[in-house]
Amino acid sequence: MKQIVILGATGSVGQSTLDVLALHPNEYTVLGLSAHSRMFELAVLVKQYKPAYVAVPNAEAAQALKQALGSEPLPSVLLGEQGLCDLAALAQASHIVAAIVGAAGLPSCIAAAQAGKTILLANKEALVMAGSFFLQAVKDGGATLLPLDSEHNALFQCLPAGRGKVDASVRCVWLTASGGPFLKRDARTLDSVTPDEACKHPKWSMGRKISVDSATLMNKGLEVIEAALMYGLPSERVKVVIHPQSTIHALVQYVDGSLLAHLSHPDMRVPIAQALAYPLRIESGVADLDMTVLETLNFAVPDVAHFPCLALAYEALSMGQHGCIALNAANEIAVEAFLNQQLAFTHIATIVQAVLSQSATWLAPTTLHEVYALDAKARSLAHIALERYQSL
Ligand code: NAD
Ligand code: MG
Repeated sequence: MKQIVILGATGSVGQSTLDVLALHPNEYTVLGLSAHSRMFELAVLVKQYKPAYVAVPNAEAAQALKQALGSEPLPSVLLGEQGLCDLAALAQASHIVAAIVGAAGLPSCIAAAQAGKTILLANKEALVMAGSFFLQAVKDGGATLLPLDSEHNALFQCLPAGRGKVDASVRCVWLTASGGPFLKRDARTLDSVTPDEACKHPKWSMGRKISVDSATLMNKGLEVIEAALMYGLPSERVKVVIHPQSTIHALVQYVDGSLLAHLSHPDMRVPIAQALAYPLRIESGVADLDMTVLETLNFAVPDVAHFPCLALAYEALSMGQHGCIALNAANEIAVEAFLNQQLAFTHIATIVQAVLSQSATWLAPTTLHEVYALDAKARSLAHIALERYQSL
């Protein structure tokens, strides 16, 4: 029986994970769940999955959860960031699903790594921000890092021997991008798109932050950095191609001319099931892909002139860890402002560009502590840049 902890259980990835686990009650138990808001939804999950532990942000949230649970017994409640870290390091836990959105997920990822857990990583921002410090913590803690992000999970499966390792036989890897909801939109109207339009993804159902990132192509940019870090590849060997159907998730180009692709319906339960069961295979609840009804698979070059965030991410990667921290932090601030209708869609890239260029003079961090300090510095620079572009 594998004991699973889900960090960010009330989110889109959290829910997809619970859907897969519900299919396999004899193989997996839900040991712990975390949620940052929506305590009523957490209470529904507690009633259904009966975790021994939950983590919530503070005492008020704990009280709200207690109320929502009514006569249902309350699990052990852990509070705040330390509570998340304790949940991620529980002795009984085998697998930690890291599905918190943004830099807020980094401390619990590090705690899971130090405790030697198998980490199923959806929270790409944690890896982009901490880079080699995260990977070193995984190594030092004897942990295992498995990708949940669909492209990286696809690469894991297409790389030599299906073990997620790059060797000399690999020329490069390709990440596919759907192109997001504005792929065909007249670029002159991009400045007036609304948060709801940006969050209406044509292929994937996801949380609002990653949906906006998909619309700007920053999600693909973060994924380029994620792939470079996870598979130890230089930026020129991580390529991106637009593929609107989202049927192929990633491809590995081998030196002999072979190109290996991973195909599935665009549904996170596929990579989640793969990573949960690895090296075995289990049912995910997702239908098989019927090749006889697949019509066309289209591909195109990304339009970085109108979606500059992808190019900014390559630039950050070439700058080094401080560039990646600046890119991620500025993007989080800008996306939040856009979702709060305080910033035009097209100015998300403007804010990121402004902070990234200021970070060019920074020294690369030498400790995790410096990573957090640079993240805070980038956030305050982003807030200053926001004041210029805010449209309240
Ligand atoms: P979401 O917004 O649906 O859920 C986020 C979860 O994190 C929620 O449970 C929320 O309570 C929690 N959370 C939010 N802020 C927090 C904070 N400050 N502290 C602690 N917990 C907090 O997001 P999502 O779409 O599930 O995405 C989660 C992560 O997975 C993101 O990093 C995203 O990039 C990545 N990801 C998502 C998908 C997808 O299909 N949704 C695919 C690949 C990767
Ligand atoms: Mg992805």
